[in-house]
Amino acid sequence: MLLLADAHYRCTSCGDCCRGWAVPLEDGEADRFRQQAATLVPADRLRGAVGRDKQAGRMIDTLVGGGRQCVALAEDQLCRVHATFGAEAKPRACRIFPFTFVATPSAVRVGLSFACPAVIDAEGPRLEEQRGEIEALFASAVDDSRYLLHVGAEVTLAPGRAVAWADAERLLGEMLAALGDTTRPLVERVCHAGADAALVQAGLEEGRDFAAALAHAQAERERLIAEVLAEEPSIDRLSRALFRTLLKSTEPGRHTAGGRVGGALAALLGTRVVKLQVPASVSPTHSTDEIEVAWKDVEAVRPGLGPDGEALLTRWLSNAIASCTFFGDAAFGLGLAAGLDLLVMSAAVAAFLARAHAAANRRTAVTLDDAKRGLRQLDSGLTHRSSMPRSFGRALEATASLDLLREQLG
Ligand code: SF4
Repeated sequence: MLLLADAHYRCTSCGDCCRGWAVPLEDGEADRFRQQAATLVPADRLRGAVGRDKQAGRMIDTLVGGGRQCVALAEDQLCRVHATFGAEAKPRACRIFPFTFVATPSAVRVGLSFACPAVIDAEGPRLEEQRGEIEALFASAVDDSRYLLHVGAEVTLAPGRAVAWADAERLLGEMLAALGDTTRPLVERVCHAGADAALVQAGLEEGRDFAAALAHAQAERERLIAEVLAEEPSIDRLSRALFRTLLKSTEPGRHTAGGRVGGALAALLGTRVVKLQVPASVSPTHSTDEIEVAWKDVEAVRPGLGPDGEALLTRWLSNAIASCTFFGDAAFGLGLAAGLDLLVMSAAVAAFLARAHAAANRRTAVTLDDAKRGLRQLDSGLTHRSSMPRSFGRALEATASLDLLREQLG
């Protein structure tokens, strides 16, 4: 099992994962939850405790849903089912969050969702120090379940171009090394990772084997990075539309079928308002507040996240690459190159949301707290979004994702 090298996590019992989104249930879990909850909360509160939602293309039972909180969440923000029946009595999704598990031919890679404030704040000990607990969780709740995602012996790099897992693993290592080079600004590091993927793809298309294509990429990438960054950002209408679609999917209330339709329409119409979610962990009332900010006010906030915000975004990007959650099973079947495009565009959306949180607080520049709130909202949307249409993957190939990020980071 491969754990993220520098990741920290310990649940702080903030209760944020128990409100505001539809938590997926396995077959039989809805009935068990109803029976458990019936002994814990008044009958009138049980109505609507379990709902239905379309996730990953199929209708399933869910706990709570957009805007509400789980009936088992007590006033002290702890779970009544956990307190009464034990951790193992909770639905699998509740037990596993915020971990992600992806089985590759060489190891199971473990990652973390940044929808959890404790992950964003790097609370608690390193994952390596919790290896025993994580392995026990894997054995009891994840292995052989649909929560274990898979990477096969071959990985799609781009349409019609697959590489062996061992080669993909090398390319992922190159991307991670690029992101870890803190002597360069984040935009350059992201460009470096993208250049590696693009040049390897080009080398393979020219008939080189993987090792030669990678050597070619290593020799050529600095020239390509300089060339790309010498150009002014150029963002076409399709890229702007995809950015707005992704942004809308992260807004509060989008985690329902109706919300998704509304989100798609709003993205097409180009609505001029951005909706923000303030998690209960930063709200003194323990309610999840929603705020609206005018688009023009967001644009009035200076682009950029500052060094600490960039370090946070780097940690998020590195987590996605190391845990293999940006392509394949975990990302609508995207290949590595399109997955990287989606990841970079998502980083741009997180930076935009950080500016929106700054605007909501009448600031002209982003603080680290704004960056945290923006990233959390972005990752909550990614975690809980249903499958994207195939056309989204194709459109990503033509998206100016790096330029969208350059625009947001300034
Ligand atoms: S959001 Fe994270 S820290 Fe908060 S209760 Fe859930 S797992 Fe714990």
